[in-house]
Amino acid sequence: MRLSKDGVSTLRDDPQEAELASHKLMLRAGMIKKLSSGLYTFMPLGLRVLRNVEQIIREEMNRAGAVEILMPALQPREIWDRSNRYEVMGDGMFKISDRQHREMVLGPTHEEVITEIISNEIKSYRQLPRTLYQIQTKYRDEIRPRFGLMRAKEFIMKDAYSFDVGWDEADTSYDAMYNAYGKIFRRCGLRTKIVEADTGPMGGNRSHEFMALADAGEDGLLECPSCSYAANVERAERGAAEPKLFPDNEKEAEPVSTPGMRTVEEVSTFFKSSPDRLIKTLIYLADDKPIAALIPGDRTMNDMKLARAVGAETLILANEQTVLEATGAPVGFAGPSGLELPIYADMTLKGYKGALTGGNQADTHFINIDLERDATIEAFADLAFGETGDPCPRCNDGKLVAMRGIEVGHVFKLGTKYAKSFDATFLDAEGKEQLVVMGCYGIGVSRTLQAAVEQNYDKHGILWPMSLAPYKITMLGLQPDDEETMRICDNIVDAFRSSGEEVLFDERDERPGVKFKDADLVGCPIRIVVSKRSLEKGAAELKLRSSEDSEFVPIADIHERVMSIINKEMQN
Ligand code: ATP
Ligand code: MG
Repeated sequence: MRLSKDGVSTLRDDPQEAELASHKLMLRAGMIKKLSSGLYTFMPLGLRVLRNVEQIIREEMNRAGAVEILMPALQPREIWDRSNRYEVMGDGMFKISDRQHREMVLGPTHEEVITEIISNEIKSYRQLPRTLYQIQTKYRDEIRPRFGLMRAKEFIMKDAYSFDVGWDEADTSYDAMYNAYGKIFRRCGLRTKIVEADTGPMGGNRSHEFMALADAGEDGLLECPSCSYAANVERAERGAAEPKLFPDNEKEAEPVSTPGMRTVEEVSTFFKSSPDRLIKTLIYLADDKPIAALIPGDRTMNDMKLARAVGAETLILANEQTVLEATGAPVGFAGPSGLELPIYADMTLKGYKGALTGGNQADTHFINIDLERDATIEAFADLAFGETGDPCPRCNDGKLVAMRGIEVGHVFKLGTKYAKSFDATFLDAEGKEQLVVMGCYGIGVSRTLQAAVEQNYDKHGILWPMSLAPYKITMLGLQPDDEETMRICDNIVDAFRSSGEEVLFDERDERPGVKFKDADLVGCPIRIVVSKRSLEKGAAELKLRSSEDSEFVPIADIHERVMSIINKEMQN
């Protein structure tokens, strides 16, 4: 590709709207262009990277025995009614209608479509197992589209669906996808952590997320350095900790006037105590009934864990009015003592003595609370988000460490939820009708591409992994008006082309400084510079994007040298 013709337009300055390094770089390097919020065009360089990611995914999916198909993005509403997800998806789904006023949606995912198809296809156990996949555009009306390709309204996903005769067999299909995902992300040059994920409302029983590690990632994860435990912070459990005893822990509880002190900070400053001494009492509506939930003052409530502990389908934080009715006090003064609601307490509060709580009366707190003596607790459970330093729930030896990541892939054992909705059954060996057992497996293809940038850049620009680079080689011809230079450049380009490597050739009439800067920004792994100066030595200057050093390589050797670098890198 010739830069002067094919118009790759780079930007000098950081675009205003981009917060994330990878988003800025994708825009600055001319890989993508924004149309409007959450909508991007892949420009020539960005599209080449996208195709590379897709190719890696295809190869590994095929190798794992999955078969490619392509389903429509436009889907009739009825199939979403059948799975009961039309309401569940709510405003997250783009809804439109055709000229006959038939309601349609733009697919945010394809469980419904694939199960509908398979239910007509599969008749006998002999046709199973099957795993089908597609690489296709998805639509989601995200509340906050942001970070470029990371959270877009229209994005490219690889989604696969497995169908098996039973639950154990479905595990084998799951493992095949799980292993393929490991290979895919390794080949894309990503450092990922595989974490246990919440199985949430999709109704399955096994789920893992593949997280590309990045400080700017939207997801939190916790890992135990001593064993293999790693989980999304939404789900991560915590091991048991020693009960906490604070000073005066044998004394009777006593009300103290705390005018206007509602926050943990205000209360702990007033009592000159650490925030964990205060038991925070939150009032929720669990399936429309008020409950109280307790956690130490320095912790954050994990609503998913609470909902599970309570066994509630819906859980929302109560409003001021409900808090007043349920506790007799305004927000900020609720406490477990004397409260006539079911009370759920975080497990670390078991044995808490000498604690502070709200007094269920305006401007009042209790001191010297012994939780089990002074309140009736319905259940102790793991309710708070885990944090760095918490004991590992598996080995109990290690201390959890918090990290951040970008969810690039997700594998999920679905079970029979969709099979039931769509009557996807088959006849087993005994001629009995059975439901197929499903799994679903997604990779954010466009998100993966940007995650690779988030993990591979420096102050000058992108450092593409060899496997994803739009071009593995960029060549700068520094004197485009010099015939000899151009002739040699063309020869080099041709030689690479015959070995199957297209070269990004910068033959623009620009100052060398501009060309060097752009080459660093675009981030092709290998840079060849041909100039009058290098030709005096009969050489071209070779430099890797990842290294500071360059060297002169004789023109006659440059092709072989570069191909051997590429071949070595691509084998890894
Ligand atoms: P998230 O929690 O980030 O919203 P999700 O769990 O809803 O994602 P899945 O339904 O698991 O997403 O979709 C499979 C994959 O698609 C995700 O692992 C992610 O990589 C990608 N993905 C999901 N939403 C988006 C989006 N809005 N833009 C780009 N990629 C996305
Ligand atoms: Mg997910």
